[in-house]
Amino acid sequence: MVSILKKEQVFEEANAGNLLPKCILCKEVPKLGIADGFLLIGQFVCSGCEQKLLTLNYDDPAYNIMVQKLKEVIYSSKKSSRQLKKE
Ligand SMILES: [Zn+2]
Repeated sequence: MVSILKKEQVFEEANAGNLLPKCILCKEVPKLGIADGFLLIGQFVCSGCEQKLLTLNYDDPAYNIMVQKLKEVIYSSKKSSRQLKKE
């Protein structure tokens, strides 16, 4: 019985991966799906953008644009969680 429940959970997780996440930074869907990146507060960042963030210089305008987008995501997720608490 326990093993069946575990299989169902794995199946649900695999299905979630098949939703093909879109990167919040470059708006592209990675070839490997959710495995090709990481989730930040429920938002997907592809491995390509992750690498860019790690390699870009602090004073690079592209770095600032990416950080700004991440801040927007973090801010909007905080806002929506506050709205949920009000309900
Ligand atoms: Zn990306």
